[in-house]
Amino acid sequence: MALIVHKYGGTSVGTTERIKNVARRIAKWSRAGHQIVVVVSAMSGETNRLIGLAKELQAEPDPRELDVIASTGEQVTIGLLAMALKSIGIRARSYTGAQVRVLTDSAFTKARIVAIDEARIRADLDAGQVVVVAGFQGQDEHGNITTLGRGGSDTSAVALAAALRADECLIYTDVDGVYTTDPRIVPEAQRLRTVTFEEMLEMASLGSKVLQIRSVEFAGKYRVRLRVLSSLTDADMPLEEEADSGTLITFEEDTQMEQAAISGIAFTRDEAKITLTGVPDRPGIAYQILGPVADANVDVDMIIQNTGADGLTDFSFTVHRNEYAKAMDLLNGPLKAHIGARAVLGDTRICKVSVVGIGMRSHVGIASLMFRTLSEEGINIQMISTSEIKISCVIEDKYMELAVRALHKAFGLEQSVGA
Ligand code: ADP
Ligand code: ASP
Ligand code: MG
Repeated sequence: MALIVHKYGGTSVGTTERIKNVARRIAKWSRAGHQIVVVVSAMSGETNRLIGLAKELQAEPDPRELDVIASTGEQVTIGLLAMALKSIGIRARSYTGAQVRVLTDSAFTKARIVAIDEARIRADLDAGQVVVVAGFQGQDEHGNITTLGRGGSDTSAVALAAALRADECLIYTDVDGVYTTDPRIVPEAQRLRTVTFEEMLEMASLGSKVLQIRSVEFAGKYRVRLRVLSSLTDADMPLEEEADSGTLITFEEDTQMEQAAISGIAFTRDEAKITLTGVPDRPGIAYQILGPVADANVDVDMIIQNTGADGLTDFSFTVHRNEYAKAMDLLNGPLKAHIGARAVLGDTRICKVSVVGIGMRSHVGIASLMFRTLSEEGINIQMISTSEIKISCVIEDKYMELAVRALHKAFGLEQSVGA
């Protein structure tokens, strides 16, 4: 008998018919003698609808109240799934995040899980119940409802798996694993049999929304065995076959295969670029610009600064598009004169395309192949950043799909068989 956490995303529970299928799948695992905790998302489109309602009343919704509203989508799904399970003879109980004491900090709309009291869940499991928990939500120490950021149900699932010391966390979704890139953009993308945590972390942080980044961080930190697989296969397929399907996220030290240079390509349109021109180049200038930005709780991603011969510099950085207006307002206030910038320019028509792979450590020429491929497509690179296992380029957003397809081809990923 194993303790397994299942997570089903929005599409997987998008209709009552699909919820019935999910219930059949869970019944199969439960009848095989496993203890099952299920984490579910809101039905697909529901979280967007709820946020849309909030925005009809306030263009910039009050974060506390937004979380009260956005968290309700998941509450509907847990009730429906528990009912579907009971109606096929599986004992089940549903709980909101607060009911199973998912304690978070108070950063509404992007709260972090601090602790989970697993006692109630364990008692139910020991009593033979399937426990169905609402993903994406928790409560802070003052009892306020919080949510964990878009895609946060992945993190709920992995955090529960870590707290319960589960044998495995299975992320069921609408694709049958992690691909070399988003198969919606590149139909030739290949499923990876395994991908390392480091690569998955980079891919998630660089825009592959198949797993929320914090879920991967949690899994790496607490060594949760994590697998991404399809919820859209036949629910009655043999359990052993299902248990071995999809993509397993592995620890690098356990990977024996010769690594391909690149494992995947990630991309995002979620960022915007801000440039301060004509900034006097003196010590402390980066701090003077980015200190107040950080104090306003705005995350900065890429940063570029280069000194011109005249002692002036253009200072560029990227922020999440949701925080772009806030950052622009801040920089266009008294700060601009204080810094001595000539102008503050904003550009939301950018995207970031990245190639990722631990094989980069042992292969040379990855950056030059990336730059050559983009140049052959006539795409101008605006910013570049690198780490040991990734290279990212900011380009004009209209070229995003072209760039992803060209890079996928140039790096031979259609032929990739996965590790
Ligand atoms: P869920 O609702 O189950 O959480 P998401 O929509 O959040 O599902 O994530 C699954 C989607 O992630 C897929 O439908 C796919 O379009 C997208 N995706 C992006 N990059 C990748 C990738 N590298 N591999 C697989 N899917 C990807
Ligand atoms: N329902 C939330 C969202 O749409 C959380 C999730 O699906 O993981 O972002
Ligand atoms: Mg998701």
